[in-house]
Amino acid sequence: MSQSTNIMGIPFPNVTMNQTVAILGEVVDQESNELFHVITGNPEIVMSCQKNASLRKVVDQAGLVTADGAGIVMVSRFRGGQLTERVTGCDLLFRLLEEGDQKHWSFYMLGAEESVSEEAVKVIAQHYPGVIVKGRHHGYFQADEEQQIVEEICTAQPDFLIVALGAPHAEHWINKYRHQLNARVAIGVGGSLDIVAGKTKRAPAIWQKLNLEWLYRLLSQPSRWRRQLILPRFAVRALLFREPK
Ligand code: UDP
Repeated sequence: MSQSTNIMGIPFPNVTMNQTVAILGEVVDQESNELFHVITGNPEIVMSCQKNASLRKVVDQAGLVTADGAGIVMVSRFRGGQLTERVTGCDLLFRLLEEGDQKHWSFYMLGAEESVSEEAVKVIAQHYPGVIVKGRHHGYFQADEEQQIVEEICTAQPDFLIVALGAPHAEHWINKYRHQLNARVAIGVGGSLDIVAGKTKRAPAIWQKLNLEWLYRLLSQPSRWRRQLILPRFAVRALLFREPK
């Protein structure tokens, strides 16, 4: 069995959520000085990689690319790939908090609005008391504030740096500072801190099971319709994709 599934030229390792959490636990235990970058690869990232060489380079340098988005798993199934389940940034964050509650993992939370960031940390302290939040910063900073934030993260030395700046901004940000962050693992998680803080709601489990999370998001945040036009375009292009000879 191949160890990864190729989606439009991007190799997605065939990992389940449990395997992903286990891999990241090992990374934390190894105490390596090299940052392990996890990209939760959704159709938007895959499509952007087709023409954006700098994003493609960031994806190629990542330690792990997981299948975020039902579209990625569906295309894998149609093309005989081995991706069996989604590993979304939001689900992964909740699983890491659960595991971190037991193992006392430390986190730094970067991103989202100030009130959301503050509330998310309060919720985490309440529901996952074993988790150590070593610091947080909202995501609406100016370029000239970045170095100070990087230094704060470096001093905090978290096991996990959670970056909720939206894709692909988070992925570029992590890659840009990867040698200065002093975190073991860094993950871009989109709007997940809004969900942790209770500002936005995740699609109910049944919608997720029916692969309709995109529809739920469209109905609850209609302003996303333009972004979601990419989904049918991704499906067609990914299904017809031929590797260049
Ligand atoms: N965000 C931020 N700084 C910015 C722009 C966005 O911290 O300059 C946050 C925003 O508040 C939200 C997240 O990034 O929490 C983006 O959420 P979205 O669901 O749009 O993520 P995506 O689907 O783009 O990964």
